[in-house]
Amino acid sequence: MSDMEKKNPFYSNTDPSKLEMSDEEWQKVLPKDVYHIARQKGTERPWSSKYEDFSEIGTYYCAVCGNPLFRSDTKFESGCGWPSFYEPVSKGSIIYTPDNALGMHRTEVTCGRCKSHLGHVFDDGPPPTGLRYCINGVVLDFEKAQQAEKKYDQKENPNQ
Ligand SMILES: [Zn+2]
Repeated sequence: MSDMEKKNPFYSNTDPSKLEMSDEEWQKVLPKDVYHIARQKGTERPWSSKYEDFSEIGTYYCAVCGNPLFRSDTKFESGCGWPSFYEPVSKGSIIYTPDNALGMHRTEVTCGRCKSHLGHVFDDGPPPTGLRYCINGVVLDFEKAQQAEKKYDQKENPNQ
């Protein structure tokens, strides 16, 4: 059980049930930086995320609720300063909303389970989708893919 799960009883990588909670309730269980971006539509400073220049193999989850969002094999170097992906885990992973704030016509992406703000999607990404999901690293949780070594039968290898 991760630190996140201990503090946040709504966090689950496997429970797909939708969460309809008030911001007050979220504020009680989320770290300050996660709350600011996820629930107040904040934006982290570009180039500030540890996931921006990061190429481990695994899955990225919503840091608010644990919903699987992106796989590492859809991550790409966009050069925009935020972790970028070209395709979500599934259609239901993400909710799309027109965002005309600041005089720009953008599409906001929010978590399909808890509706937290994640970032925006643009149509200048690479094939096969041509999309660029530009995501705040603060609202991403990364879990490494199960390593082959862990499955290795230690009995056959008593020196280890
Ligand atoms: Zn979520």
